[in-house]
Amino acid sequence: MKHIQVRYGELTLKGNNRNFFISKLIQNIKFKLKPFKEKIIFIKSHNSLKIDITDDLLLNIVLENLQDVFGIYSLSVVEEVENDLDAIANLALRIAQDSPSGTFKLEVERKDKTFPFSSQEIKQTVAKKILQNTEHLKVDVHQPLTKIEIIVKKESTQIFTSRIAALKGLPVGVSGKGLSLLSGGIDSPVASFLTMKRGMQVDFLHFMTPPHTTPEALEKVFSLVKKIARFNQNTFSLYVCDFGLLLQELMHIKDESYRITLMRRMFIRIANLLSHEIKAKAIITGESLGQVASQTIESINVINSVSQLPIIRPVITFDKEEIIEVSKKINTYEVSILPFDDVCSMYVPKNPVTKPRIHRAQEQEEQIIWEELVQHTLKNLITHYIVRDGQIIEKGKETE
Ligand code: ATP
Ligand code: MG
Repeated sequence: MKHIQVRYGELTLKGNNRNFFISKLIQNIKFKLKPFKEKIIFIKSHNSLKIDITDDLLLNIVLENLQDVFGIYSLSVVEEVENDLDAIANLALRIAQDSPSGTFKLEVERKDKTFPFSSQEIKQTVAKKILQNTEHLKVDVHQPLTKIEIIVKKESTQIFTSRIAALKGLPVGVSGKGLSLLSGGIDSPVASFLTMKRGMQVDFLHFMTPPHTTPEALEKVFSLVKKIARFNQNTFSLYVCDFGLLLQELMHIKDESYRITLMRRMFIRIANLLSHEIKAKAIITGESLGQVASQTIESINVINSVSQLPIIRPVITFDKEEIIEVSKKINTYEVSILPFDDVCSMYVPKNPVTKPRIHRAQEQEEQIIWEELVQHTLKNLITHYIVRDGQIIEKGKETE
């Protein structure tokens, strides 16, 4: 019977946290594979997890799903036989027969030192068997097309032909929860993905200003959230904030070049207050240094100065090209490049300040009433959506 071997990789290095990390990973894997749970058996061992699948037809779909789970290092489809040289050679031959024409190499690891044949002897016997009984394979120890790995363990021998590289990183949830400021652009979904990679579960906050931003813009945000949901905790939240009142108020500041800076400070203030309520420990943005006029180090400083929580900016050092590469890999690119009406696009001043100063920002803020509006927005103008199994449902409107 075939099974999938799940290897943990980096997790093996993490001393005391190891057990916690591994149980989180297994929990995440079980959630991910819930639709197939009737046909799956999980068997834990020291450095890996074995997933027995009673229906071979499910093998590929299960593999695909596992490739969305952070904390998995690599995956193999493994077959097992008893520790008997003939049986090992026969299974290796069958696997070789199913391999594509070209070159192959055998790799043998003898973990069970009581097995009566050395690695070298196993290799010779198996290679001979394969070469005598197939016509499409030649040995190449340097650059083989197919590598057949044989691992003799205490209980049985495992044979497999490939190690599929998985996402690596850490299991989502081991680093707590963050709140990601998600726009409709390319950068913030990538930033969210990269944060999840280090084990942080992510909730999302999107600002809109209807009727200037259309229902289609919100739909776009929904699509992005659905696209990245597969990497996140099974259940998480999306908050959509109507920023209209605050934006109107921001029209009254004297120095309009500060409008975007102040808008970002308000975003961060609201994000801090919301984070406090939902117990998020960090704020995440898709800012990249120097990408646009508003993303200078001075601007970042003026934004940071209103935040109690750390602001994580995973793509701060990325070139646009590098960000796009990731967004294509995680399938958000196609959605991100759809036309999008952003909160600020109608309100961008002619000459936004590129090197804002904290005291200037404060002076501008003194000219408007924003504290009450921030509180009002937080209490009354945020819609909470629950995202579960890739479905988005407004909180309180769930049917069950
Ligand atoms: P993105 O591609 O993520 O939109 P960008 O290059 O367009 O980024 P900005 O528009 O300057 O950059 O925004 C910088 C960051 O601020 C975004 O990456 C996002 O984290 C946050 N942000 C901007 N607009 C919004 C919004 N409407 N709602 C929530 N967050 C936003
Ligand atoms: Mg943007």
